[in-house]
Amino acid sequence: MENKIKEEVLKLKKEKDFVIIAHNYQIGDIQDVADFVGDSLELSRVIKDIDKKNVIFAGVRFMAETAKILSPEKNIILPVPTAGCEMADMVELEKVKKLKEENKNAKTVCYVNTTALVKSICDICCTSANAVKVVNSLKEKEIIFLPDKNLASFVRRSTDKKIIAYEGFCYVHNQFNILDVKRAREKYPKATLMIHPEAPEDVQLLSDVILSTGGMVKYPKESKNNQFIVGTEEGMIYRLQKLYPDKKFFPLRGKPKAICNNMKKITLKDILLALRGEGGESIFVEESIRLKALKSIEKMIEIL
Ligand code: SF4
Repeated sequence: MENKIKEEVLKLKKEKDFVIIAHNYQIGDIQDVADFVGDSLELSRVIKDIDKKNVIFAGVRFMAETAKILSPEKNIILPVPTAGCEMADMVELEKVKKLKEENKNAKTVCYVNTTALVKSICDICCTSANAVKVVNSLKEKEIIFLPDKNLASFVRRSTDKKIIAYEGFCYVHNQFNILDVKRAREKYPKATLMIHPEAPEDVQLLSDVILSTGGMVKYPKESKNNQFIVGTEEGMIYRLQKLYPDKKFFPLRGKPKAICNNMKKITLKDILLALRGEGGESIFVEESIRLKALKSIEKMIEIL
C-alpha cells in the first residue's frame, strides 16, 4: 500500500511540477519522496533558490512560515495544518514585551523555531548552528534569548554577554536525562555521543559533541569513529543511516523513543492529498508581519 502511495506521489509531483521538502525529523517514507531533506532554515533557503512555484513543506508550521517569509511569491503548502511546534507555541507576546520593557538595553534574539509574529518583534533570528555567532555579533552586552532555555544555556557558556532566557523548551529534547546517557554509554561504549543543544544542560555537558541537526549531518563524515549515539528526534537516525550506510547510529533513548508528535502527524497519504489539492493549507503571512520578520532573518543571514 505504502509503495503504491509513494509511486502516485512521485508521479503527481512530476505532473503538477511540485517540489517536496522534508525536515530531518519526518518519517523515512516522506524523506524518500522528498527532493530536499534538511533543517528548517536550510530548507527555507533552498526553496528561495528553486524555480518551482508550488512547494509541499513536510515539517511544522513555523518552518512553512519561515519559507513563506523568504519566498512570498511561492505557494508553500503545509500538508497537515495542525502540525505545530510546542516550543514555538510556548511564546506569549505579552511576556516578550514585558522582558523587553524590563531590559531596555538588551537586544532580542529569537530562535528560528518561533512564529512569524514573534520573529517580527525580535531584533535578529538565529538557528541552533549559529546562535553563538549571532549573539556575539551584537554590540549590546545584554541579550534576551527565546524561546529555548536549553539553547540559551549553551549560548551562555560560549559568550561573556548576559543572557536573559525565556523559559521555553522542546519537549522532545528536554526529556533526555543523565540516565539515558548512562544507559546509552553502557550499551554503545565505543560510540560518539552527539547531542542537540535543545537537550538539558546537564546532558549537553556529558556529551562528546553538541551539534545542530545540520552539524549532525556533517560530523560523521569527518569523524574517524563509525558508531554514534544520536541525541535528537529519532527521524534523524533514518537520515544519517541513509547518508552513511557504513556507519552505525543509535538512539540516545530507546524507550520511550524521542519522537516529535507534530512532525509525525504527516503521512505519505497527507502528501498525496496535498498534491491532489484535497488537503493541506497554503501558508499566508500578513505582509506587514512578513516584512518585519524578514528583517530579523536577513540580519542573521548577513552575518553568516
Ligand atoms: S522537535 Fe521540538 S522544536 Fe522541533 S518541531 Fe518538535 S517540538 Fe518543535
